[in-house]
Amino acid sequence: MTTSRDFRQPALVKHLTEAIAQRVTRPWTLMEVCGGQTHSLLRYGIDRLLPPGVELLHGPGCPVCVTPSEGIDRAIALALTPKTIMTSFGDMLRVRGSTTDLLSARAQGGDVRALLSPLDALRIAEEHPEKDVVFFAVGFETTAPSTAIAVSEAKRRKIHNFSLLVRHVRVAPAMEALLLDPLARMDGFLAAGHVATVMGTQAIDQLANRHQIPIVVTGFEPIDLLGGIYQCLSYLEEGRYGVSNAYPRAVKEEGNIPAQTLIKEVFDVIDLPWRGLGLIPAGGYRLSPRYRDYDAEIRFSLGPAKEDAESACRSGDVLRGIIKPDLCPAFGTSCTPEHPLGATMVSGEGACAAYFHYRGSNPAPTRASS
Ligand code: SF4
Repeated sequence: MTTSRDFRQPALVKHLTEAIAQRVTRPWTLMEVCGGQTHSLLRYGIDRLLPPGVELLHGPGCPVCVTPSEGIDRAIALALTPKTIMTSFGDMLRVRGSTTDLLSARAQGGDVRALLSPLDALRIAEEHPEKDVVFFAVGFETTAPSTAIAVSEAKRRKIHNFSLLVRHVRVAPAMEALLLDPLARMDGFLAAGHVATVMGTQAIDQLANRHQIPIVVTGFEPIDLLGGIYQCLSYLEEGRYGVSNAYPRAVKEEGNIPAQTLIKEVFDVIDLPWRGLGLIPAGGYRLSPRYRDYDAEIRFSLGPAKEDAESACRSGDVLRGIIKPDLCPAFGTSCTPEHPLGATMVSGEGACAAYFHYRGSNPAPTRASS
């Protein structure tokens, strides 16, 4: 049986870094679109093992970080509604909306709870029939199936005091938006292995062909990451484009069909604003009409969403790969994990938090533009 240690072996790391060094003949810029990969790259110092011309950009791979402030504002409004229990993942409670966060709503008397799963919210709804329990559902296609299970269970078991505030996002449309950004600098993508485990490789296949770019599905351990980087650089050196799977132990071309079926049954695809990236066509999900009774925005008659507010935080530029976190003037000074100014420092998967955690508050300068 293989373990994660097998994918961290120093001899294999050395072999792959040497192979990469021999493979590249010119500078290339790759972007990973997964916060877990960003943290692994920094934790193991993989970016520092690469040849000088190979640069890694950190894309919008943290779902908490890209949740728009209008969604958080709505969650706060619901948290302060009498007889309501507002629930979500722990990181989500600390991210500010346009003025404040869910933890502050709790301090003002709102019943706000951090949970590990939307199914926990369903259990709370059963235990408190006198309350309205809302789960603020965020995340990529990876977490959408568990949200779908929770709401289909609520419907099946006729639990009517449970609803969802949905801000699930779809990764492939965001990658396309990044490619259409005039400031985009990436030559290839390392795609998130966990999303591809659910969705397969078809959606990114079309993207790779449309934009004639290599996209390599990549895992999270050092060997996975170096293998993905090697494959992506090989495509670029050979002038090829398309999708390659460097994470075959978890990802199949067709993905997880039952999970995809569940997502299709419960959600409709909609245009959705991403924090830092703006409105992304087909960038998210909302509950389908079949589940409208469980849609908190309908149940509580929430009005139209507000635009995201302007902010001094440059997390939008971080999420688009325009700057590295340590080039933000606030990094490590006015913005730290204890006193975060933006979502990318709050979230355990955020790029700013990763830099602070693994490089300290005053790291050596990066090679990113400003
Ligand atoms: S360091 Fe803080 S202020 Fe700067 S981009 Fe990151 S989260 Fe925003």
